Amino acid sequence: MKTEDIPDFLSDMKAAYWDASCALDFETPYQLLVATVLSAQCTDERVNKVTSALFKIASTPEQMLRLSIGELEDIIRSCGLYKTKAAHVMSLSRTLVEDYGSRVPETRAELKKLPGVGEKTASVVLSNAFGVPAIAVDTHVFRVSGRLGLSHEKTPDKTAQALMKAFPEEEWSLMHHMLIKHGREICHARNPECSACPVRKYCEYYEKTEESRPALT
Ligand code: SF4
Repeated sequence: MKTEDIPDFLSDMKAAYWDASCALDFETPYQLLVATVLSAQCTDERVNKVTSALFKIASTPEQMLRLSIGELEDIIRSCGLYKTKAAHVMSLSRTLVEDYGSRVPETRAELKKLPGVGEKTASVVLSNAFGVPAIAVDTHVFRVSGRLGLSHEKTPDKTAQALMKAFPEEEWSLMHHMLIKHGREICHARNPECSACPVRKYCEYYEKTEESRPALT
């Protein structure tokens, strides 16, 4: 995408996805941290179902540590990768209690030291729990950014850097949510609905596939 098109693209995205926001249910930074760890390779809907049960019995690090690992595994089993996720949740909860007075740290460097927390999870927590501008790159953001030509990078972390360079800092968090919403609703992994896409005029994929596409009515 051309740099000069970014302001109009942003404006069209806002018109289409003005209500985009975090789809994970949470009331505290700790709950968001746990929900984000559980969301790896799992839908937000499934995570919300699981955490609505989990947070009734364990919504703080101390309460989580009172569960046995087997109890936690049973509760989160339907999220997939449940053994690894349970181990990470227990381990990060212990670190929060022992090193941070049970509070979730507010810096990227500290967050990334927690078990199971990488660049993406740190960005989600910073942005949604603490209001720090950040762009987390999940599978939707990675795919949509590549198709639109917002980034040609090959890794999520480098894509995040490219997006943060392309957009003003105050737009990062909203752009993250808008790209996810666009990926879920229109720009699907298989068969993107280009004919219904509100930003197709900016899209490199759309331009490249023009000749193989039936004419729009
Ligand atoms: S035109 Fe198609 S490929 Fe491009 S962003 Fe829109 S839906 Fe995705």
